Amino acid sequence: MHSNQQLFELAQHHIPGGVNSPVRAFRGVGGTPVFFKEGKGAWLTDAEDKRYVDYIGSWGPMIAGHAHPEVIAAVQQAVTHGLGYGAPTAIETTMADLLCELVPSMEMVRMVSSGTEATMSAIRLARGFTGRDKVVKFEGCYHGHADSLLVKAGSGALTLGVPSSAGVPASVAEHTLTLRFNDIESVRKCFAELGSQIACIIVEPVAGNMNCIPPVPGFLEGLRQICDEYQSVLIFDEVMTGFRVALGGAQEHYQVTPDLTTLGKIVGGGLPVGAFGGKKEIMQVIAPLGPVYQAGTLSGNPVAMAAGLATLKQIRQPGFHAHLSDLTQRLTQGLKEAAQKHNIALSTHAIGGMFGFFFTDEPRVDFYEQVAECDIERFKRFFHGMLERGVYLAPSAFEAGFVSSAHGDAEIEHTLDAANAVFASW
Ligand code: PMP
Repeated sequence: MHSNQQLFELAQHHIPGGVNSPVRAFRGVGGTPVFFKEGKGAWLTDAEDKRYVDYIGSWGPMIAGHAHPEVIAAVQQAVTHGLGYGAPTAIETTMADLLCELVPSMEMVRMVSSGTEATMSAIRLARGFTGRDKVVKFEGCYHGHADSLLVKAGSGALTLGVPSSAGVPASVAEHTLTLRFNDIESVRKCFAELGSQIACIIVEPVAGNMNCIPPVPGFLEGLRQICDEYQSVLIFDEVMTGFRVALGGAQEHYQVTPDLTTLGKIVGGGLPVGAFGGKKEIMQVIAPLGPVYQAGTLSGNPVAMAAGLATLKQIRQPGFHAHLSDLTQRLTQGLKEAAQKHNIALSTHAIGGMFGFFFTDEPRVDFYEQVAECDIERFKRFFHGMLERGVYLAPSAFEAGFVSSAHGDAEIEHTLDAANAVFASW
């Protein structure tokens, strides 16, 4: 049996940094990444047979817990027929119908294979539809790694300190205008100057790639109103929030309707899937109906559709999100109380099955600058203390945490006991 350390050394021979996605390398917290061999419910088992309560959930998809029996059964059933044909299958229509039912602002939807593809395609579509080039995004929001969106981005880009990537031509980046999340005045000002050139606003309706920051009242409503005024396309990137903060996503929770929505993660139940959809009038501009090209060899893959549908079936059960919210609130409340008991300043956010915690004196964190000023050294010590005690948190202070329906009293208690022990040791 190889240890995590040995596996990491072996991995580095032929994989850059030993990982296939940068945050996994633990650069944000230091130390050796954990190699996993199994997940069941809320728990993961690593290569050394150590078990952890998981708050990453494969970065979101595992909202029903790892290896949910019905999801596994649906995948097993699907593979008996073949792995894909690169031609239409009926299950794609089932998926499209369900997505348009659950997220009513989507009148039409197209499946892709990742969140990055979904946002990249939605941006191209918004540009093709409006005939305009400029895109508004917000600092610290991450929308995948397409060129035009890797400007002042969040997630791994922030963790590694390269929010604007090398390799993105200045001539591409110049069309991306980056504004301040939760600051509607910055958006009004920008549109007053450049509104007629702006194709779209893309926003994480709850920011989950600079820790977790919900929108302040009026922010999303303001974006809607500005897009209406200037006839720009409003894109909610719900790759993370979709089906997680509410069954119908953040747009249902906040009652603000975008023109286009991007989805990922949960929609594939753990397999590589993304989707983008919205108003018919806009979606009909895509090939083969219209001039905006977009395609994918594996798009709508039937095995991936089966995993996604089985996961969506779980989360449609009555009371699912109320239970998830309750668990998440108990977690953040418990973390806060544990910190308070040991005189450690901690601020938290929780919404649906998504949460964030910040080592800061600020009672409430609403802005990127506040996140940037949090105590990263404390976060690192907390992360490693928790890891040692069998709790797997995101290895970066710039990521949201995720709770699944497989978490329960025992897991929350285990987590809070670990947090108390970590704080007591400081
Ligand atoms: N948008 C958001 C809001 C995300 O959180 C992510 C990934 N975490 C993406 C897009 C990109 O998705 P993917 O990693 O599947 O390309």
